[in-house]
Amino acid sequence: MTHPFSPRRDTARRQPRWLAASLGLASAAAVLALILLAATQQPARAGKPLQRSPKRILVVSVTKGFRHDSIPTGEEVLQKLASESKGAFTVDFARTDEELAAKMSPEGLKPYDAVFFNNTTGDLPLPDRDAFIKWIADGHAFIGAHAASDTYHGYAPYIQMLGGEFKTHGPQVEVECRVEDRKHPATKSFPEPTFKVYDEIYQFKNFERPRVHGLLTLDSHPNDKTPGDYPIAWCRREGKGRVFYTALGHRKDVWNADWYQKHLAGGIRWALGLEKGDDKPQVKQAAQPASPP
Ligand SMILES: [Zn+2]
Repeated sequence: MTHPFSPRRDTARRQPRWLAASLGLASAAAVLALILLAATQQPARAGKPLQRSPKRILVVSVTKGFRHDSIPTGEEVLQKLASESKGAFTVDFARTDEELAAKMSPEGLKPYDAVFFNNTTGDLPLPDRDAFIKWIADGHAFIGAHAASDTYHGYAPYIQMLGGEFKTHGPQVEVECRVEDRKHPATKSFPEPTFKVYDEIYQFKNFERPRVHGLLTLDSHPNDKTPGDYPIAWCRREGKGRVFYTALGHRKDVWNADWYQKHLAGGIRWALGLEKGDDKPQVKQAAQPASPP
């Protein structure tokens, strides 16, 4: 494991020095035992996983369906956002089935605070996908861009965790997004209540307003402009975990745009618990009709 967990390293470096002086070299075995003890006790002293600093994000770019050519741009942008985060978070990558097997097993996920699906598609060969959903609900973060919603069709726990499932898209088009929450970290950088973007715009199925906190929305169909509710970005709580999703991010120039990077960075910071933001659904579940006596 390469996790730079400095307290543990300091402990390991400091203790042998004074112990060796006071106990002598004969106690090497005892020293080793103490080091091991210190190492095993560290996680308990460190407390909850989300209190780690810097927080660690695993960026997944494995695809089993369509492969977006903006994936390498996405990786570069996320690496840049981590560098610009002043030590708040770092990124690591899973690009192959082998890396997925190693880094997304229940054991492999332990060093991470968040997983970011960077235009993933299809049924990813996760070692234990149920354990991954539980890992999120236990207090970790999930962030998805664009085709993250074109992933795991037919695996209901993933779709429910994400809050929506890719249905279709038309030709790339300019749309006017309405900013639903102008205070949320993911959307507070938009200077106006609406903004225009040219991208491939997804439409969704299995999306329910009462299950998400809306962030960006279209009030008409992206292509034929028929009025309606077309979600673009949202966040939600999954148990104790946080989920942020933006449907934008098909095109490389979108990834490279300053506004998109601020949108992502804010969403990441919110999901990691570094910045507060409302996550309550704006639309309440409709009251169930009273059952007949
Ligand atoms: Zn796309």
